[in-house]
Amino acid sequence: MSRYTVNADQNQNLTNGHFLTMKADLQFDRDHLWHPYTSTTHPLPCYPVARAEGVHIELETGERLVDGMSSWWSTIHGYQHPKLTEAAKAQLDRMSHVMFGGLTHGPATALGKRLLAMTHPSLNKIFLADSGSVSVEVALKMALQYQQGLGHRHKSGLMTIRGGYHGDTFAAMSVCDPVNGMHGLFRDILPKAQFLPRPVTPLDGPLAPEDAKAIDALMARHGETTAALIVEPMVQGAGGMRFYGAAYLEALREACDRHGIVLIFDEIATGFGRTGKLFAYQHTKVVPDILCLGKALTGGTMTLAATLCSDAIAEGVCASDAGVFMHGPTFMGNPLACAVAEASLGLLETGEWAGQVAAIEAQLKVELAPCRALASVADVRVLGAIGVVETQSPVDVAAIQRQFVSDGVWIRPFGRLVYIMPPYIITPAELSQLTGAIFRALS
Ligand SMILES: *Cc1c(COP(=O)(O)O)cnc(C)c1O
Repeated sequence: MSRYTVNADQNQNLTNGHFLTMKADLQFDRDHLWHPYTSTTHPLPCYPVARAEGVHIELETGERLVDGMSSWWSTIHGYQHPKLTEAAKAQLDRMSHVMFGGLTHGPATALGKRLLAMTHPSLNKIFLADSGSVSVEVALKMALQYQQGLGHRHKSGLMTIRGGYHGDTFAAMSVCDPVNGMHGLFRDILPKAQFLPRPVTPLDGPLAPEDAKAIDALMARHGETTAALIVEPMVQGAGGMRFYGAAYLEALREACDRHGIVLIFDEIATGFGRTGKLFAYQHTKVVPDILCLGKALTGGTMTLAATLCSDAIAEGVCASDAGVFMHGPTFMGNPLACAVAEASLGLLETGEWAGQVAAIEAQLKVELAPCRALASVADVRVLGAIGVVETQSPVDVAAIQRQFVSDGVWIRPFGRLVYIMPPYIITPAELSQLTGAIFRALS
């Protein structure tokens, strides 16, 4: 195949003019547009998308792909859900944006009410940020200002576990995995964090003794100077797609209480039903002091994130020298995004997601199991609407992607991870297309 991902011979359904325009656009893209984590001098091929609807992504070249990625955890109700599109259009006719300093609006208050109704009563204050990484920055800043408000100036450190991913901004990067994250590149300017080993406590098991020991040891050394501990509960996403048990989170909660450390759960990936509970912390007996939400918050329609915190955290923040929380992005509480998010949470409130996610989990367990027998496969794991096949060696992304597209599916692996988290509305037959394509690609 040429360095373009489209091939005229395969695409008789395109008119010649359309084909040439698309080819020129792809070349422009290669020459001028950055994509996530890519080289612009040696870019991987990109597939041009014409439209997306329900569980399907349609390419300019005519292929109709079953989406296995939910555009990175976000489009849980499928693309162009009529209720979300309707909410966006209605809001566009009123106002797409207005500043949040000194002004407020219906979409923000309606969204806030829904968020409080679906999360634990102790989480009572909401900061509406514009992306997941920013909501993590906000959470870390809240924790630091809270400690200052309490007069705990010695508490300025951050703690996390290895294998995590919390975003691409600087403080967020500092708590990403120190090996596969970006620490090496930016060592000199990143805040230094303390790392617990990757948890080995199994999903349904008791706290592993080595995990207990590691928590005790790190807390003994750094507990006194640590302001906040941040983790992705139950599922570590982009840092390796690993699962671990509720008992570990309960042990962290206890250790944080003992040492006066703010516990932050980053549920940007796991929130809104993905793990089988509305929020992953609901698999546990504990609640964080601060909760980060993003990705699926708007059902994948727009960018929006939220950082929720307890009254105690908010009071500490406002007792700090500044007297206010020192953050306020231009597009804070963007009405268009809030209106769509409110509509998305409305869809979740019907409760339909729970049956859908449970059915996806059951089917993934059955249909990914045969991958265990493949020589190329190291592990298969499933939780909620997340299916992971870990391979023995890194996959050739460009090659496997080509194969997936010709097999009618959109799956985007990284490293040794071929994983899917489809929209909840996927049918059993469509889900089988995804699992079948993974088995064939790894055979
Ligand atoms: C994606 C992600 C982020 C970053 O969110 P962005 O919207 O990409 O900035 C942070 N934490 C977790 C767990 C994520 O999955």
